[in-house]
Amino acid sequence: MKIHPIIQILVAFVLADIMGGILHWGEDSYLDYCVDLPILDSIARDNELHHYFPRSILAYSYLEHMTYTLPIITLFMCIVYLLYPKLIFGYPYFFVTFFVFSASINIIHRFSHLRECETNPFLKQLQKWGIFCSHEHHSIHHVKVDQKYCGIFEYNNYLLDALHFWRGLEYIVFLLTGLTPTRKSRYEDYAEIHTHLHENAKLKCPDVPTREEVKELEEILKQYKKCKGKDPSKDSSKDSSKDLSKDLSKDLSNDLSNNSSKDTDHSKDYLIRLV
Ligand SMILES: [Zn+2]
Ligand SMILES: [Zn+2]
Repeated sequence: MKIHPIIQILVAFVLADIMGGILHWGEDSYLDYCVDLPILDSIARDNELHHYFPRSILAYSYLEHMTYTLPIITLFMCIVYLLYPKLIFGYPYFFVTFFVFSASINIIHRFSHLRECETNPFLKQLQKWGIFCSHEHHSIHHVKVDQKYCGIFEYNNYLLDALHFWRGLEYIVFLLTGLTPTRKSRYEDYAEIHTHLHENAKLKCPDVPTREEVKELEEILKQYKKCKGKDPSKDSSKDSSKDLSKDLSKDLSNDLSNNSSKDTDHSKDYLIRLV
């Protein structure tokens, strides 16, 4: 059956985003930070770090954003090619588009964490049309955490959330396995281990976090999460993580107190601007 190239491209764009959304939903809902399995452990930690300090995504390179997506989609394409070679050559526009957007989904996710001063007019226009998720739109995921899992196309989120798609999937998972989802912590749930970076993120045009700063955040999160079955009531690491975050906050807090009052406001987009 012949399908017009434009239709192939549009369907692949929407499907790549939905597949990415399903992986994101799976990570957020069933992948525990303390999981002790190769690959999954670093995916879980990266994901938790992103929810703890969403702007950490800006510390990585474009190539690093494809660390997992590129091998997964390449493997998928190889399997399709081996099983149904005619399919790839019959619908080349579909498969090329699906490959490109599946591999680059985290790059587009990164774009949704850029502030007004960090983006460019082309991206801004795509986000204004909802073709790529805008900062405001994606920030809702970090504040409410049980919705807007798709990272590319805003209209997928409107549709899937309205259809209660994610709750339906969770119900199916529950029927099949008995597992119930665990929600990611919201941005403000981490308030006690927020650092100077979180303070800095209140600015309209914050600093881009460095790799060293992100490593420090990873360490704070590790101490806060207390993996390996320790008894939380006896564990003092929560306190030490507080001390650590306090130390990290100290160096910038004075600077920020001087300029944050004029650069931040408490309008309704205040929370959204944090992430
Ligand atoms: Zn998430
Ligand atoms: Zn995000």
